[in-house]
Amino acid sequence: MRRLGAIVLTVLLAAGLAAPARGADPRWVFYTKDRTYYTSPWFQGAHRIMVPFGCTAAPYYSPDPRCRDHHGFHHGMDIAMPCGTPLYAAVRVRVVPNDSLGPAYGDNPVLLRNRKKHFDLVIGHTKKVYVREGDMVAKGTMFARANDRGAPDGCHLHFEERSVGGGLSTAGWPRALLRLTPRDRS
Ligand SMILES: [Zn+2]
Repeated sequence: MRRLGAIVLTVLLAAGLAAPARGADPRWVFYTKDRTYYTSPWFQGAHRIMVPFGCTAAPYYSPDPRCRDHHGFHHGMDIAMPCGTPLYAAVRVRVVPNDSLGPAYGDNPVLLRNRKKHFDLVIGHTKKVYVREGDMVAKGTMFARANDRGAPDGCHLHFEERSVGGGLSTAGWPRALLRLTPRDRS
């Protein structure tokens, strides 16, 4: 029994050494080799990409003909962040109706639009949203918080860039829009 205790202690110590940062969600699974923490004018703090845009081995999406090995296609970029992390408008945006978004985005996702800059931005898995349809949100306004609504893999946000009114088929890589910056260089 003493030996078993020693093994358990060793495992606990090893787990402790590998413990994730404070505020980490035990449900997070990262489907990327990128371990960089990024800042963005869209959210508070610095956080890791959990599922990148495009074909992915993450099991949450049905097999897509564009992807090998029956992988699914992820139309946005998931960034892991603790529940309650504030979200800011990095540019002036209008809140447009979100009824076209399916349940995979959670029960209160946000659809934002900026016609001058030619984008719609879907933000999925929000719970607390402090703006309403039709609102014009000024740059720098805190308008929602991260949550796990509709997400099996813990608190995070799904950022999906689309053309104005273009819908899911126009979804593209949102990296430039999010202005992700490695934490060390910020
Ligand atoms: Zn996603």
